[in-house]
Amino acid sequence: MNRGRIVDCHTHMFPADIPARWDWYAARDSCFAELTRESPRSRVREAWATPEEALRAADRAGVERIVMQGWYWRDMDLCRRHNDYMEGVVRAYPGRFAAYASINPVFGEAAVREVERCRDMGFSGVGELGPGGNGYPLDHPGLLEVLETAARLCLPVCFHVGEPVGHAYPGKDRTPIEGFYDIARRFPDLRLILAHMGGGLPFYELLPHVRQAFRNVWYDLAANPLLYDIRAVKAAVRLAGPERVLFGTDFPLTVYPRRRQGQDFSLFIEDIEEHAGLTEAEWELVMGANMRRLLESAGKGQNR
Ligand SMILES: [Zn+2]
Repeated sequence: MNRGRIVDCHTHMFPADIPARWDWYAARDSCFAELTRESPRSRVREAWATPEEALRAADRAGVERIVMQGWYWRDMDLCRRHNDYMEGVVRAYPGRFAAYASINPVFGEAAVREVERCRDMGFSGVGELGPGGNGYPLDHPGLLEVLETAARLCLPVCFHVGEPVGHAYPGKDRTPIEGFYDIARRFPDLRLILAHMGGGLPFYELLPHVRQAFRNVWYDLAANPLLYDIRAVKAAVRLAGPERVLFGTDFPLTVYPRRRQGQDFSLFIEDIEEHAGLTEAEWELVMGANMRRLLESAGKGQNR
């Protein structure tokens, strides 16, 4: 398998002052606090990586391009601060990073203006949006405005999606996944990335009318090893087609906790290489070509 041109569509790089000022951020955002609080099972330290640390890990694993997803901050100022940080990272390492905008659609017009500002700064998409974490339904008027703007500007939108069955865990999004069908029908040209295997939505691609509505929907594999058996990768490829599955890790999250992983892309890549059963052609699409195409066309839409 070609290990040199991998694109990770889903990582999180936080402002550099977060490890030292975690309390300050946590006091402003209880959802962030809950998901990143140090506990005996998850060590906060591992939730952060500097761009240099990320690049070292990427080079070891054959990852060419790192897409930084934003965070679903509750506070607009924190969204802007995070976006400014990611803009600096993209500029500092040409060709290695891309950024998706941190947006909280609850803020309506201010969120729309932030999407436009990020497009002007060269961002490649919007997200990761967290409807559950930010407490809005998928038909929230602010969200619809953000999606309309993203569609107009040709910016894909990535959602954090939770599977509706199974055990509870911090960060499990309880937003009903059928709402994504309505979004896909309402915005047929909007490119949607449904993270974490879309909560199981690929199965419904077997319904012909859903498949038709979801022609601009992609599924990412971020944090998959924490959630699914490795056979899920091939299942998603079979159900949605190899063109609509995207490799992603949720780096620097520890997705193989039993193996004491830290700041690493390679364990998941090796797992896919050895156990997912992808053909060479499927590998090329899932591990890089699909996301490269989404990055190339991003932001080419019209201003108001
Ligand atoms: Zn997520």
